[in-house]
Amino acid sequence: MVVAALRRASGRERLQPVPATFAGGLENGAANGDCRSMNESAKPVAIFDVAVVGGGPAGLAAAIALSHAGARTALIARRVGYGDNRTTALLGGSIDLLRELDVWPRCEADAAPLRVMRLVDDTGRLIRAPEVRFSAAEIGRDAFGYNIANRTLMAAMEARAAEAENLTWIDGEAEQVTPDDTVVTITTRQGETLTARLAVGADGRQSLCRKAAGIGITRRALDQAALTFNVAHSRPHRNTSTEFHTPHGPCVFVPLPGDRSSVVWVASPKEVERLAALSDGELAEVAERRSHSILGRLEVGQGRNQFPLGIERPARFAGNRIVLVGESAHVLPPIGAQGLNLGLRDASDIAEIVRDALSSGEDPGSSPALARFETARRSDVLSRTFAIDMANRSLLSDFLPIQTARALGLHAISKVGPLRRLAMREGLAPSWRQRPHREPRFRAFSGEADTGSPQENASKQ
Ligand SMILES: Cc1cc2nc3c(=O)[nH]c(=O)nc-3n(C[C@H](O)[C@H](O)[C@H](O)COP(=O)(O)OP(=O)(O)OC[C@H]3O[C@@H](n4cnc5c(N)ncnc54)[C@H](O)[C@@H]3O)c2cc1C
Repeated sequence: MVVAALRRASGRERLQPVPATFAGGLENGAANGDCRSMNESAKPVAIFDVAVVGGGPAGLAAAIALSHAGARTALIARRVGYGDNRTTALLGGSIDLLRELDVWPRCEADAAPLRVMRLVDDTGRLIRAPEVRFSAAEIGRDAFGYNIANRTLMAAMEARAAEAENLTWIDGEAEQVTPDDTVVTITTRQGETLTARLAVGADGRQSLCRKAAGIGITRRALDQAALTFNVAHSRPHRNTSTEFHTPHGPCVFVPLPGDRSSVVWVASPKEVERLAALSDGELAEVAERRSHSILGRLEVGQGRNQFPLGIERPARFAGNRIVLVGESAHVLPPIGAQGLNLGLRDASDIAEIVRDALSSGEDPGSSPALARFETARRSDVLSRTFAIDMANRSLLSDFLPIQTARALGLHAISKVGPLRRLAMREGLAPSWRQRPHREPRFRAFSGEADTGSPQENASKQ
């Protein structure tokens, strides 16, 4: 009855059967009693283990990972086409997770491997750092990761979500998220009501779930913005990503399949406005100058987007039966390609915690389960945020001693092999991060994944 009612109400494309109560059930019979919502509208209430709010890349990954972990999962997200031309550099364990979730085979043909990363000091300052070149082969990997258009990644995730068992996609927007002692009740603008024992807030920067959990946020706007666009070029990129460091931020050329690259150009908001207003030909010219023509002649492709930059950090990552993943939990400037890579680690960790809770009969929204998520995510997110903030500040600083320290640090990394290899491994994922379990079931971020080169895998044995 519940399913039929929901199907009528939403008209969504695919719906998994949702029983009114689950094995083990909810502790509070009032929550599921007659399958009616608690408000006067008396609409049917569907009950899930977990409800994910928000269908950006972090939310989709979390929903797929949770359903894969055996949780009856609802995804509350509008089905709208992906709107910008951004690409994402997915590093190390992110690819392993997407492979494990059967997302990666659906899109890997459209991704470009990142084998070498170059940092070029283009500040023109008196004290400059030497060029630093990181090669994946040096740490026994075929590639650090892959660069892929967000649109392509999202299409692969949506296709996987449509096939996932245990996953009900509710095409809607959460309007009210109300946690109580036993469940979280969510009503959508489209008039549906559902409850879940745990809600996953993947609803981005203005997160409704974060507010519902009573979690505050610290925001710092940066005097920087990013312009993104894609280019075709006359010379091959050789799977090398090149980052030109300017006094206002980095300008990065990241390989795409073929003789194409995506560009993320960080500069002052005024300069980004100016660049965005140029014609394709003019933008190609200034981008070629900025890249010192290492990719030859450039041709700017369709679509550009501007992003104001800032840093956001919540006071907590979980509370009141709600956990935060993706940009509801961390916003970083696009330096070192960390944002979605962190978001995928959020997704992997909450799926592991929920799988573990369900298999031991524990309530996945209970305080101990939330505390495990807090512990797992806090150090990872805060350390990355700090490292990126410091890297950005040291680049922008006019203070000579800081410029000197930066140049010396990069000099040491470029010359000292063990230090360089440590920097590369830690850039992929922090080795020391807290695991949500003693024995992780998702291999992707456990350090056990079989994803390195044959040499690397052999050396693990
Ligand atoms: C220029 C730039 C370059 C970047 N490059 C990289 C990179 O190379 N590598 C990397 O790892 N990261 C990168 N990032 C970061 C990455 O893009 C973000 O971390 C990622 O897109 C965040 O995804 P998300 O799903 O958390 O948030 P979003 O994409 O914002 O998704 C949130 C979703 O929730 C929906 N929503 C909001 N409220 C509700 C509601 N009430 N009900 C239902 N749905 C709701 C929204 O409509 C949206 O679809 C970059 C960022 C920028 C700006």
